[in-house]
Amino acid sequence: MPKYSIRESKRDKRVSLNMSVRDGLVLVVPRGFNHSQIPNIIRLKQSWIENAYSRIEKLRNCKPEPSDSLPERIPLQAINEKFLVEYKPLATHWVYAKENGNSTILVSGAISKHDLCKAVLQNWVQHKAKKHLIPWLKMVSQEMELPFSRPTVRNQRSRWASCSRQKNISINQKLLFFPDYLVRYIFIHELCHTVHLNHSSAFWALVQQKEPNLKQYKQEIRAAGQYVPTWC
Ligand SMILES: [Zn+2]
Repeated sequence: MPKYSIRESKRDKRVSLNMSVRDGLVLVVPRGFNHSQIPNIIRLKQSWIENAYSRIEKLRNCKPEPSDSLPERIPLQAINEKFLVEYKPLATHWVYAKENGNSTILVSGAISKHDLCKAVLQNWVQHKAKKHLIPWLKMVSQEMELPFSRPTVRNQRSRWASCSRQKNISINQKLLFFPDYLVRYIFIHELCHTVHLNHSSAFWALVQQKEPNLKQYKQEIRAAGQYVPTWC
């Protein structure tokens, strides 16, 4: 039996499997789900799990960095921008991050404190995400003729995005590390939740209508955690 963790979801009606470098295998189950069924589900999905594990293993092997190491490069695949990170020690108690013109981020200050460096880099990613992902979401919303209320960008651990009853859409800043077509798919998915606030067949029919590649993207999203670097 592979190692796994379980997350309960209010919204999902079916069990889904996710795999990422950081979290390993995560089963998302509907609230109140009978956990005694889980071994059976794992047996049925065994070949998917084995494939996902070998993909993750490969990724882990080509990135042998310790988990608290800091990035030298930050590739933001979604917006096709790459940044180099330079670190400069200064006799301060804090750490500053500043982007200069040549796609370089200068991190200066108490850089031996890796937690502080990570925090300022995460802030920088959030700033980038607000600048790029919100206008992009608005564009897709207009194109799909699915209006929403208020966008927010957050650094979330377990959700790529969400939509509330008030049609507010929250976007995970980590989407900047995804391929652009997956970001677009996630936007369409959340915008369809402004019409159906569930994962009913009516919801999926609407997503399918807006995004004919739904089946492929849905599959890819389950392993999309691989794109997110461990420092963020
Ligand atoms: Zn959804």
